[in-house]
Amino acid sequence: MKIATPETWYQTQHLGNGITWIYEPFIKEYYRCNIWHVRGRDRDLLIDSGMGVVSLREQIAQLAERPILAVASHTHFDHIGTHHEFADRAVHPAEADILAQPTRANTAADYYVADDSIFTALPPGDWHALKYEVKAAPAQTLLEEGSIVDTGDRSFEVFHLPGHSDGSIALYERATETLFSGDVIYDGELAYDADNAAEMRQYVASMKRLLDLPVRVVHGGHYPSFGQERMRSIAQDFLATFDR
Ligand SMILES: [Zn+2]
Ligand SMILES: [Zn+2]
Repeated sequence: MKIATPETWYQTQHLGNGITWIYEPFIKEYYRCNIWHVRGRDRDLLIDSGMGVVSLREQIAQLAERPILAVASHTHFDHIGTHHEFADRAVHPAEADILAQPTRANTAADYYVADDSIFTALPPGDWHALKYEVKAAPAQTLLEEGSIVDTGDRSFEVFHLPGHSDGSIALYERATETLFSGDVIYDGELAYDADNAAEMRQYVASMKRLLDLPVRVVHGGHYPSFGQERMRSIAQDFLATFDR
């Protein structure tokens, strides 16, 4: 397989409303995490940070310029790989221990990064799939249901939406009806443990909360962004299968 360069590992696209979408083009779409940068007056937000095989701060100049809070929508490896590069970090309490002490097992890297099959080009440098792990990045800020993440001029409400993982959170900007949903909902094959009844009950409750939320745009943890109608139909399909 071809080996990528650090300079080409990330791609960015400005979406308007101060939001930049950053992604890792050499990771196959299903495994590729969306990294969201939100420009604020007093500080910026980074929502998720990729799998961490190339420095995000070194490659994306706008991330090194200003104070930034790195939020973890949850702590699967693909979402927290470069959190350690940012001094201010936030996560839900249910997954704070994982961000502080990540392992291949507790970040799901064991399962997804057992070989090179998630890539279309290999990460640069001394890459070995089985040696891959996320660096520790303990959070200073814990975000719970109802917490507010503030940038000085923008305000995001935290929703605790467990089911995909115990500490999954979404960030909602009411003023613009913008939802950053992590892996709770996105426009692609959702990931859950259908055999875990307790988790599925939580996931059903989380989906029900999203059904009636007014949104103009949803920026999910994977796949392209979408609007209200698509969000409702994804949630309804899920509930038709699991809300019994
Ligand atoms: Zn996940
Ligand atoms: Zn993910």
